[in-house]
Formats: sequence, structure tokens, C-alpha cells
Amino acid sequence: MKLKSIKEWGFANNKPFVISGPCSAETKEQVLAIAHELKAVGISVFRAGVWKPRTRPNSFEGVGVESLSWLQQVQKETGMLVAVEVANEKHVKLALKAGIDILWIGARTSVNPFAVQEIADALVGQDIPVLVKNPINPDLDLWIGAVERINLAGINKIAAIHRGFSSYEPTKYRNAPNWQIPIELKRRIPNLPILCDPSHIGGTRALIAPLSQKALDLDMDGLMIESHNTPDLAWSDAKQQITPNTLKEIIDNLIKREVKPINVSLTDLEDLRHRIDNLDKELLNMLGKRMKCVKEIGQYKKDNDMTILQFKRWDSILKTRVSQGLSLGLSEKSVMTIFKAIHQESINTQEAILSKPDSK
Ligand code: PEP
Ligand code: MN
Repeated sequence: MKLKSIKEWGFANNKPFVISGPCSAETKEQVLAIAHELKAVGISVFRAGVWKPRTRPNSFEGVGVESLSWLQQVQKETGMLVAVEVANEKHVKLALKAGIDILWIGARTSVNPFAVQEIADALVGQDIPVLVKNPINPDLDLWIGAVERINLAGINKIAAIHRGFSSYEPTKYRNAPNWQIPIELKRRIPNLPILCDPSHIGGTRALIAPLSQKALDLDMDGLMIESHNTPDLAWSDAKQQITPNTLKEIIDNLIKREVKPINVSLTDLEDLRHRIDNLDKELLNMLGKRMKCVKEIGQYKKDNDMTILQFKRWDSILKTRVSQGLSLGLSEKSVMTIFKAIHQESINTQEAILSKPDSK
């Protein structure tokens, strides 16, 4: 995919690249007050939702087209770049006409290929950065598909925004981060910049700093963080918005680690990686042997009309493995996760054996 790095987008580029501003543009005064405060703490890209996708009707759905002129005023008064969310062709046309600098596609839109294609078609011939939030459900291919649609329209200034995924199980997050998904995205499209949106992942102020640090430690390229001059009074997402001063404090306290150690030889790291490679080889050898054994047991169960799941046996496997894991310094949670995955694989293998007709 032909893509430009954020450096090549031609903006003043602080590390990390930070976009901030309110969840929603509420009033002209609110927009300008926040923009000036953000500018004063060194932020150069301002965000504000003009059209708001809300879960339930009768919530504040954004001021709409009228507030685009407030963003033009932000550009004029502060010199900041401005970003808005677009969800259809009409939004794109109005935003482009208003001279908005950056567009983003929200999580409730990137989930819908029809809507993304409509936006892509409206962008043909334009040269504007487009940020693509992950779809609300944890579907990496759908996220990649949305990026591809925008790229096929000729846009090469694209970044993905990781904003977490909805899950039925309650978690401490508003949207579970599932970090493996943005990591896999980076592996699949290495030249696609990824920003993290800790505001929508966390849903609360206290989680913004640790999530931002984690994003930097995973080598993400920047952050989109919601901020407000009076967060408690915000018309949407009040619990997760922070003041520009708090934002500055969080950014100042972030530890910026490097992918490669500076001025230090790589030999130690290489030695350790070599050890990991060998340990993984052993691990896979053992898993291969375990699976052979699982197949033999599967055949035995089939020959003797036994169920695949023998609950007592499974319960005792989990208990003994967890206690051995604990004595080796592993957490209960990680041993459970690993063994549940292995067990699932064993069940699938035995299912295949049991459902195969006998070759008599
Ligand atoms: C937003 O950024 O305000 C927003 C609506 O986010 P998301 O699409 O991630 O829910
Ligand atoms: Mn929001």
C-alpha cells in the first residue's frame, strides 16, 4: 500500500504526534476557549466532533454544519490544524468546502463498507489526511478493508486510530484494547501509522495516562485525546475528557522509549532473542508431541464411544497446571489463557476424529 509517514504529511511534528480537543463542538465560545488553551500547551492539531454518532436517540448529536465556521476561526486565531469526523458523502463535501485539514472516520462508520466506500468516492482527487478508527467489533480485516478503500481513492496520508473494541463482558475499559489487534495491523501493514485514542478505550480520566504510555511502549505513532475546558460539564463523554493542563502534564510525564537502545551494543538483546528463538522451538516441539498424543486419545474415545469432554479430567488438568505455573512465577490468568487455548485446539482435533466415518 502506498502510504506516507506522518512526518511526510508536512505538519510540525512533535513526538508523540498529539491531536486533542473536545468530544463535541458545543458552542463557539467553548471551541475557541479549548483551542487557545491547547495551543498554549503546545498542541498543534485540534479535534472536535461536529456530527456525533450517539448510541441512543435524544442525546446531543452535534451542532452540525454551523460549527464548521467555529473551526475555521480556530485555524485563523491559533494557526492550529483542525480535524472532524465524517460519516457520509455530505459530511466530506461540507468539511472539504470549509477547508478542514484532517478527516477521521469513526468506529461506527468504519464497520460499514457501504459508508466507507461512499466516503472514499467523495475523496477522489483530494489530498487530505484521513484517520480510520477501528470498527467497534474486533475485526482486523474490516479495519484493513476500510483503510484500503480510502487508499484506493488515491489518499496516501492515512493513519489508523486504535480506540478499542466493544465487548459484551464488562471490563475496566469502556472499549477493550485487545492490543494484539493493532500489533497485528502493524505487522500486516508496517508503513501505516497508528495513533491510539486512550479516551475512548479508557472511558475515564484515570486511564488516559497509563493507556498513553502503553501505546508509546508499543511504538504507536501518536495519540488522539479528548480535552475540554470544563470536562464535567461536557455535553458528551464528560467522564473521559481532561483539561488542556492535565493533558500537558500527561504528555510531559510520558517516557519516550526507543525501539533500539541508544549508544549501547545490541549484543545482549540479540543473545536474549536467540534464547527466545530456541525456547520457542522447544515449545513447538512439545506442542506437536502433545497433539499426537491428543489424537491417539481421540481415537480411543471414538473406539469406546466416549465423549470428548471429560469434565473431571479437564478440571484437574487446569488445577494442576495452574499450581505448577504459579510455582514457576507465571500468573494464574496467563496459565489459564494458554491452557484454554491448547484445550480448545485438542477438542477441535478430537472432534475431527470422532466425526470422520470409520474406514471399514
Ligand atoms: C469520537 O472520537 O468522538 C468518537 C465518536 O469516537 P469513536 O468513533 O471512536 O466512538
Ligand atoms: Mn467522544
